[in-house]
Amino acid sequence: MAPENWRATNKSNRVLLAAEQGHYGVIAAIAYNLEQILGFVKAAEQARSPLIIQFFPWAVTYSAGLLIKTAALAIAASPMRDHIVLHMDHAQDYALIKDSADNLPFDSIMVDMSHYEKEENLAKTRELVQYCAARGIATEAEPGRIEGGEDGVMDTEGLEGSKTTPEEIREFIDTGVDALAPAFGNMHGEYWAAGPQLDFPRLEQIRQNINNEVRIVLHGTNGFKPELLKQCIEAGVSKINVNRLVLDDYYDHLRANAPTMSQTQLMEEGTQKVVDLTVRWMEIAGSSGRVSL
Ligand SMILES: [Zn+2]
Repeated sequence: MAPENWRATNKSNRVLLAAEQGHYGVIAAIAYNLEQILGFVKAAEQARSPLIIQFFPWAVTYSAGLLIKTAALAIAASPMRDHIVLHMDHAQDYALIKDSADNLPFDSIMVDMSHYEKEENLAKTRELVQYCAARGIATEAEPGRIEGGEDGVMDTEGLEGSKTTPEEIREFIDTGVDALAPAFGNMHGEYWAAGPQLDFPRLEQIRQNINNEVRIVLHGTNGFKPELLKQCIEAGVSKINVNRLVLDDYYDHLRANAPTMSQTQLMEEGTQKVVDLTVRWMEIAGSSGRVSL
């Protein structure tokens, strides 16, 4: 059983509350492999920035938990260990969530039941939030449904997105969740040709309804320009989920050099691509230099 005050001491809750109060964003970067895990940890060290390393459930099943345990070891070995959070993004499978809460070193898990209709979503969210809380693990949920899909997330194609409503906010906060990822025009994967069309009046209404009781999470940032990200942070978002935003240079490097470069050089330079781009976005999110060791 987690101690009574686990919520205040949980690393994810600590890092995100500090960000909300300090009006900056924490980059929450999806890792798929070892170069990316190393690159993210090095970026946090270089920028003296808090960071969230997150995995899709795909990584849990693909590697039988090894990628997550590896990230935990990398974090534990870093001087930034108190400021780097380990999170599971979009966990949509009941059994996998419970098994991961029991056996893997996550600080936080997104219990995403948004593929169910609202009543069932709420009931399942409530149960899983309690299960994780009993183990000292913070949780995130998605009221409404964010459109689109991403590499590693269960396919929700055919399910219509729906923007978060004020009523849903209260219902989800009452489940005991620690963070909410609202749907306000943001999309998983790639935005259409017109680019992101975010509904900022709705986000402001959501922020007022949340009333600082839980943290606000931004999903769907592929292709974001720095100004748009800053606008979201000013609107109260503290956890910034990123995927390609910090990995695009790594993929360009692989595509350009995989046919000719040695494996070791490919990996080392790939890791550096992850470091450089992640540091850049930490600066944009305002989290650089927030940690003094
Ligand atoms: Zn997401």
